[in-house]
Amino acid sequence: MKACYPGTFDPITNGHLDIIERASKVFDSLDVLIMANPAKKCIFSEEERKELIEQSVAALPDVHNVRVHIGSGLTVDYAKKLGDQVIVRGIRAVSDYEYELMQATANQMLNDSIETLFFIARPTYSFLSSSVVREVAANGGSIRGMVPGPIRERVLAKLTGNRR
Ligand code: ADP
Repeated sequence: MKACYPGTFDPITNGHLDIIERASKVFDSLDVLIMANPAKKCIFSEEERKELIEQSVAALPDVHNVRVHIGSGLTVDYAKKLGDQVIVRGIRAVSDYEYELMQATANQMLNDSIETLFFIARPTYSFLSSSVVREVAANGGSIRGMVPGPIRERVLAKLTGNRR
């Protein structure tokens, strides 16, 4: 079965990467979809986010079934175009649940043949988000352990550069 993992990934965190690694083991293939979220103003361009995800995934040993796409339109339409039957999302805490329930229900109403399946966050990453990474870096803190090692310098350069 093929799945997709849509999100904003501004930038990808270790929490996202953990979901990618776990989902890649459950499904035959996983398409990571960078989707526009009108509620969020992004710091990294879509191309930058794609490169950062690809670089992070490339460093995962034994993961060879993940592809990264810059999506557009409705997630269910994009998933269908790729032949994905499942939408993967992550849940960190109860606070994520309401939003995720709303999204999953809307997607179910739009396309009943695509199921949303949730992965619960690993406790180490349950308080980690892209916005935490952005805030810590912008204020001169260390993002070690928050973003994948191979992209840390690049993420830091962009986020601290933004401060100047
Ligand atoms: P979106 O704007 O679509 O919510 P995000 O990039 O913020 O995009 O998140 C994509 C998905 O990954 C969401 O389902 C979110 O709950 C999940 N997620 C984000 N951070 C983590 C984390 N640390 N652990 C597990 N899941 C996470």
